Amino acid sequence: MAELKRLSESRDLTRIERIGAHSHIRGLGLDSALEARAVSEGMVGQQSARKAAGLILQLIREGKIAGRAILLAGQPGTGKTAIAMGLAKSLGQETPFATVSGSELFSLEMSKTEALTQAFRRAIGVRIKEEAEIIEGEVIELTIDRPAAAGGGASGSGQSSSASKTGKLTLKTTDMETVYDLGAKMIEALTKEKVQSGDVITLDKASGKVTKLGRSIGRSRDYDAVGPHTKFVRCPEGELQKRKEVVHCVTLHEIDVINSRTQGFLALFTGDTGEIRAEVREQIDTKVAEWREEGKAEIVPGVLFIDEVHMLDIECFSFLNRALENDMAPILVIATNRGITTIRGTNYRSPHGIPADFLDRLLIICTQPYTEEETRKILDIRCEEEDVEMSKDAKVLLTKIGAETSLRYAINLITAAALACQKRKGKIVEMEDISRVYQLFLDVKRSTQYLMEYQSQYMFNEVPREADEDE
Ligand code: ATP
Repeated sequence: MAELKRLSESRDLTRIERIGAHSHIRGLGLDSALEARAVSEGMVGQQSARKAAGLILQLIREGKIAGRAILLAGQPGTGKTAIAMGLAKSLGQETPFATVSGSELFSLEMSKTEALTQAFRRAIGVRIKEEAEIIEGEVIELTIDRPAAAGGGASGSGQSSSASKTGKLTLKTTDMETVYDLGAKMIEALTKEKVQSGDVITLDKASGKVTKLGRSIGRSRDYDAVGPHTKFVRCPEGELQKRKEVVHCVTLHEIDVINSRTQGFLALFTGDTGEIRAEVREQIDTKVAEWREEGKAEIVPGVLFIDEVHMLDIECFSFLNRALENDMAPILVIATNRGITTIRGTNYRSPHGIPADFLDRLLIICTQPYTEEETRKILDIRCEEEDVEMSKDAKVLLTKIGAETSLRYAINLITAAALACQKRKGKIVEMEDISRVYQLFLDVKRSTQYLMEYQSQYMFNEVPREADEDE
């Protein structure tokens, strides 16, 4: 449990945000009735897809339905990943959101089913309730609520007041067993107004008495030991707070890694978890089931997002079919930009390269191409996100380019144009910067055209096709 606690503290360290492709997305941009606002939380247009995602969000929040599968299908750059990101952001930190790309499953140093199992277990949260542990020898800061008292809390019982005020005491002890009692004594001392917020006290183990050390170097005073059992939790700021119960939220995968003797908990930082033995997972599932029965834990089904799902092969799909039957299964959101294509590992073709039996399970959400106006709004948001000032004309030109090539290409030109502007010592990006980078960097259409014209000069083109076939 101590490890679980350390873990929940360390998870925050990994949430460092930087400007990435989707960093402008802060949610799904829905109103309270789950209708999609035209432009909100970094999201533009794609209203019916966002509304559908909002319904899924509600399903997840209710937490009762597991094992649903949703397919986001649409042309490249129509915001499938953005919608999945928006969903993740709207869920908040407690609901696990795991993401994996279809192609990643084949490049990891583990079998694809192991990689999928890990992805599934990263998307299943366990909310564990327990009493806090306090490490022996630690200097503990305890923050407790106490009734507000007149005159800065130095006089009057204050117990009749309904308003509450936080009193902060620093407690120094090396004694584990009496620390809970000590907390109770501190509360007692506070309510009796013998010590005040900010006082430093210690516990004498032999006599069992609380001693006030004073705010800085104050006179020592003794207090009697009385009071009910008290529980503590380490809060993000590194303080301990009095609470009714301590709640940790971890994923099943994190519990697996911590308990896997070969990996250990540091593997969570490196991501190099390797394969986890089936027995370890079985033991953990049994333990979690016990905790659930005892009311100590509940399962929080999260979301597993698999991008480029057409990269999965027939074995992966059959694994998914089975995994979704599990009562702890997360909500599975998959995305693809393929039309009718071959199912990997077979000679059969099917819509999105997904086998018919799996397709049948899916709720399908389609994304539509953007209008010019929507493209302009997305580019506006991206300029702001990337801190790039752009003239009106330049934006019009960039929007035109976006409509004729692709949204993604236009987004990529923003930073490049800002650099071109910087180079000519300009203050804001103008049309000339846009056209400069448009000439420097080709979009797919122009690049393909170029290839057609000059393909004979590329490597390996010297081998005639017939020779290839003869081999
Ligand atoms: P692909 O099929 O190629 O994976 P995709 O449908 O997943 O594409 P995204 O990666 O989500 O497309 O979109 C491309 C870029 O446009 C991203 O930077 C994304 O954040 C942004 N974007 C797409 N749709 C929207 C939208 N509706 N609102 C705001 N930004 C968007």
